[in-house]
Amino acid sequence: MQAAKVVERITGNAWATDADGNFIYVTPAALAFFGTSLESLNSQLDENTLGWRRVIHPEDYDAAAAAWRRCMQTGGHYNVEHRMLRATGSYGWARSTGQPIRDGAGTITGWYGTVIDMALPPQMGEYRAEDIDDPLADRPARDVLQSMDAVHPHDRPTVEQAAARAFFHGIPQVSSYRQLQADGSYRWVEFRVEPGYGISVHVDPAVARQDEPWTMASSFGETGDAVQAALAIEKLYGGAWAIDATGQFTYATPTAQTSIAMTLEDLNVLLDGKPFLEGGRQGWQRGTHPDDSERAGETLRRALKTGEHWNFEYRVLRANGAYVWHRAAARPTRDEQGRIIGWYGTALDIDVYKRTEAALRERERQLQQLIDTVPALIWSTMADGTPAYVNKPFTEVTGATIEDITAPDGSASLGVVHPEDRVAAREAFLHSVTTGVPYIQRYRQHRAGGSYRWTETRAEPLRDEVGTIVQWYGVSSDIHDLITTQEALRESERHLQQLVETLPALIYCSLPDGKPIYRSQRLRQYLGLNLEDTDGLGKSRLDGTLDTVIHPDDLAVVKERYAHSLATGEPYALRHRLRRFDGVYRWVETRASAMRNGDGEIVQWNGICLDIEDQVHAQDELSRAQENLARANQAASLAELSASIAHEVNQPLSAVMNYSSACQRWLTAEPPNIERAQKTLERIVHSANSAAEVVSRIRALFRQSTDKRDSVELGAAVREARDLLAEEAGRQRIRMDIEGESGLRLVPFDRVQIQQVLVNLMRNGMDAMASAPNDRVLHIRAFRAGDMVRIEVRDKGRGVQFPDKIFEPFFTTKDQGMGMGLAISRSIVESHGGQLWAEKNEPCGATFVFTLPLDVPKMP
Ligand code: ADP
Repeated sequence: MQAAKVVERITGNAWATDADGNFIYVTPAALAFFGTSLESLNSQLDENTLGWRRVIHPEDYDAAAAAWRRCMQTGGHYNVEHRMLRATGSYGWARSTGQPIRDGAGTITGWYGTVIDMALPPQMGEYRAEDIDDPLADRPARDVLQSMDAVHPHDRPTVEQAAARAFFHGIPQVSSYRQLQADGSYRWVEFRVEPGYGISVHVDPAVARQDEPWTMASSFGETGDAVQAALAIEKLYGGAWAIDATGQFTYATPTAQTSIAMTLEDLNVLLDGKPFLEGGRQGWQRGTHPDDSERAGETLRRALKTGEHWNFEYRVLRANGAYVWHRAAARPTRDEQGRIIGWYGTALDIDVYKRTEAALRERERQLQQLIDTVPALIWSTMADGTPAYVNKPFTEVTGATIEDITAPDGSASLGVVHPEDRVAAREAFLHSVTTGVPYIQRYRQHRAGGSYRWTETRAEPLRDEVGTIVQWYGVSSDIHDLITTQEALRESERHLQQLVETLPALIYCSLPDGKPIYRSQRLRQYLGLNLEDTDGLGKSRLDGTLDTVIHPDDLAVVKERYAHSLATGEPYALRHRLRRFDGVYRWVETRASAMRNGDGEIVQWNGICLDIEDQVHAQDELSRAQENLARANQAASLAELSASIAHEVNQPLSAVMNYSSACQRWLTAEPPNIERAQKTLERIVHSANSAAEVVSRIRALFRQSTDKRDSVELGAAVREARDLLAEEAGRQRIRMDIEGESGLRLVPFDRVQIQQVLVNLMRNGMDAMASAPNDRVLHIRAFRAGDMVRIEVRDKGRGVQFPDKIFEPFFTTKDQGMGMGLAISRSIVESHGGQLWAEKNEPCGATFVFTLPLDVPKMP
């Protein structure tokens, strides 16, 4: 009786969850016992706390929850003891056990288990009698349902364990315990439990021997206990029944009869007049689902004939008209000679399990659908790498089925991997399979159309509870666009790099603090230095570099300007001497500016360095030419001055003339006045000397202007004049337009002097346009006019104000002017046989024109 109750209790407290641990079923009795509901169990109390904390003792919850979470992760069996809060408000120890349900592929689809209240408290009996709709409830509860109190305290664990073992392992358990009698004494009883029911019988301790086979028949044979046995059977969870060797029902619990609304007679009636064993249909088959009825009959008939256990699942027609899944089991009882004398069996309501199973299958189907609809290529292999599964997208996208990726020997063929990537992929995969490290590999993967696309494949091992790898799960994602974009980026970077490297300049980059981080190849070659070469000198890389490559005389200013730019972010620009790899210092112009990010912060300095050594030389040349010109200018000025000086020479000469005639008069007078003549002669000598002095002074002044007439090409002189003024013109934003007839051969002329004329006229033109608002153009034209060359310098200035005076020496309208330019120019031109004059321009400006004689070939 006790055992029966224990089993009832066990089967009563079953539960099932889905793969995520959400309860999908808990037997109503358990819910009532713990005063909870599915919703409450499944609710989330907070982020980390599950609803079932409400029914677990606070001190036990954490350990239980941790064990549960671990089981969910590993798939290990759940087996935890903890105190549980009953509906009555008291705590009692309970053991909760559970195990996963897996599908064919080994995936966990759900969990099922039981909760056994280990204390088996007396309240349990009371609760059952009151709350369960029991056909026997009208009997005094204590008559039928004895509590664990009736079991001797020492024997209680034995009873519980036997009941639990029978339930979990399905192995019948036979044991004995001391049962409390009405008079307060204990009596040994033997009990037997099987999954689904239990029974206990009184035995004589002297007779009861463990090795003696216990049979149903003998138990029923015991006087007085037969009633108790029958009562026990009636309390079985589900229906208990017995049939004779021909399949005729000899017993069925009232519960069972009520639930299917059939009496023993109804069960036994022959539906087609033929005995059951000879293939006839029996009344009970009417109470089973038409689809199951035939096979139920057949299998039972076979069992009756062979003596094999009968086990069958079928749908039973309930009194209320609904079909409910049952599992029926029966085994024969034999007499002492081993002859079958009857069968006893049970019918368990497994509808809940069937429905749970169906629900799990549905979930599995949904999961499968999910796996097939996610836009990822999913596959799995066995622990040894044998392909086990590919999802639908995998086959659709790669065009490969599971067979296509399996080699003849069963291993993974990697047939979808590009041949060039296959060796590496196989190596990595084998490595993962042997070591268990996650697999991650990028390769080109075959596409159904025949192309290949870059794919990243990752796989992780699935392990069982002891850590052994059961399967590998992999997913391949298309990263082709990413890879090609990266490739394009790299290409553009390479392009840019090439651009920087081939620019005819020395290029470098530095960090915001000035530390050099990049030098173009040209710069590295120019300096003969790599970035790191100046490291380790005990100073920053910037200082190390500057100290090494900058001319010592320029170093201080370079450093100061660098520091200024780095501090302020202002561009850096400086000309200085830079040490080339061969130790030669060359002039360079360095410019650097800051590169900023979106927030305006400096992220880098980019610099460029140009070798201007040749330019500097050209500048020197220019200065020298200018010096020459200045000297020529001076010489020409003196030439002009000499004209006025001639006037000075004239005076002593006139005096000499006058004194000479006077002297002649004194000598020719009667008598000649020698004394006066003598005096006059002295004056003559004096005047002649002073004239000679003037001449020699002038000579000395002219000694530099050696009048070399050797040039014949006017164009060269014009171009040189232009070059001399180019910088100045640029500064004043004046454009110089030069036009010239080619092949003009002149009578040999002094290039320096003619150049000076040109420079004078051009500079005057530029001066005249200094205040002109725009259109500052200076035209220089040279063309033939008869047997002369006519050279014009035309400006767009304000025109000549004093045309009568401008050619006079020392006439000027300029603050800094000398007023000698035009006078000298005219004397030079005239000394070359030409003429110089000014003309008026329309609408504004002046044109200065001069002519020079052409070298006209003489007639032979
Ligand atoms: P300077 O240039 O030193 O004044 P110049 O003999 O070259 O001496 O010129 C004399 C003067 O002639 C100038 O001060 C200026 O008034 C006038 N002049 C020369 N060239 C021009 C010109 N292109 N347009 C207007 N005035 C000019």
